[in-house]
Amino acid sequence: MKTIDNLNFLNKRALVRVDFNVPLNDHFEVTDTTRIVAAIPTIKKIIELGGSVILMSHLGRPKEGPTNKYSLKHTVNTISHLLGLPVDFTDDCIGDEAYSKSGALKPGHVLLLENLRFYKEEEKGDVDFAEKLSKHGDIYVNDAFGTAHRSHASTAVIAQFFAPDAKCLGYVMANEVASIDKVINGAEAPFTAIVGGAKVSDKILIIEQLMNKANNILIGGGMAFTFVKAMGGTIGKSLCEDDKLDLATELLAKAKAKGVNLYIPTDAVIADNFANDAAIQHCNINEIPEGWMGLDISTETINTYSEVIKNSKTILWNGPMGVFEMSNFENGTKAVALAICEATKHGAYSLIGGGDSVAAINKYNLANQVSYVSTGGGALLEYIENGTLPGVSAID
Ligand code: AMP
Repeated sequence: MKTIDNLNFLNKRALVRVDFNVPLNDHFEVTDTTRIVAAIPTIKKIIELGGSVILMSHLGRPKEGPTNKYSLKHTVNTISHLLGLPVDFTDDCIGDEAYSKSGALKPGHVLLLENLRFYKEEEKGDVDFAEKLSKHGDIYVNDAFGTAHRSHASTAVIAQFFAPDAKCLGYVMANEVASIDKVINGAEAPFTAIVGGAKVSDKILIIEQLMNKANNILIGGGMAFTFVKAMGGTIGKSLCEDDKLDLATELLAKAKAKGVNLYIPTDAVIADNFANDAAIQHCNINEIPEGWMGLDISTETINTYSEVIKNSKTILWNGPMGVFEMSNFENGTKAVALAICEATKHGAYSLIGGGDSVAAINKYNLANQVSYVSTGGGALLEYIENGTLPGVSAID
């Protein structure tokens, strides 16, 4: 893996694709700086090595070209503050002014280009647009893991305009890739994957891929009920994808054939309504009464899953075990999070990825008790599904 540590940046202009797709409030202030904070070590290192930095990113999903709401100018002060350096800005990512600013950049200086998605060519992966962007830098650095699963102009297509020794991954990307590789290609057994969340249809490919790698797969969340129904259980009005029942049966058979322990919950916390103040009962997961829905895993499943997790050496967690946003249905998710922390404390490697499990681990302030929390949900899943990402293979 080629990173900024392998290249010479002295007197070079580094064009760095970052993920500064940050949330802004009504006053256009950055309300969560996580993504900017993550990119600071890469920027600082290039400057330390004698280079200058041209930052490029997308922000939101602008439909109609330049829009104030999606302008990256709103992020300049935050970047500058976190970096401890002035940051110049150009209100177009290509064009004369942008080129004259990037062309005149001195070592130690930082320039931010306007939102790449003000050009529809960015998401289309337009080759001419990518070439125009490439003119800004001598070296291309990709540090935007969140968009590494997209073949956009700035994330993948652009790499062809740089020689092999003039492109590399930044630290955010390198850390993400190393941590996923550790789980997918270098997993110490027993490897347990915990897959939850709302829909089985979103997670089919990942479950199939994981069957080639994991010893145990623990299923939870809304998607469990499609499996339960496929096995002949009654699930009341729980979430279910009826068109995926055959698929659930196939996955169960495949796991058996491959010798993978595919765990389906055995009990559930059920409610008469999708609300925190609904009436609540606990029951076997395959005996949910008419009019009731399963919103969390219950005691027996929590105990089984916690035991499996604590005996694991490698753990991957994607997706909550229940509706953890509501306090009455968060126990399963919280218990799984705690079991992962316990296993990590005893030497297991744990990777948490995918929006809602990251939200859960943060809700319980446990992020510093697991091995790695991935920043890119879609990119993480696609990396596991395909074994690589366009943004990574473009550099290789
Ligand atoms: P996903 O984005 O697919 O990982 O799904 C996460 C969402 O699934 C969260 O917002 C959870 O509240 C929801 N969820 C988890 N378990 C259930 C369940 N049993 N019934 C309905 N929604 C659920």
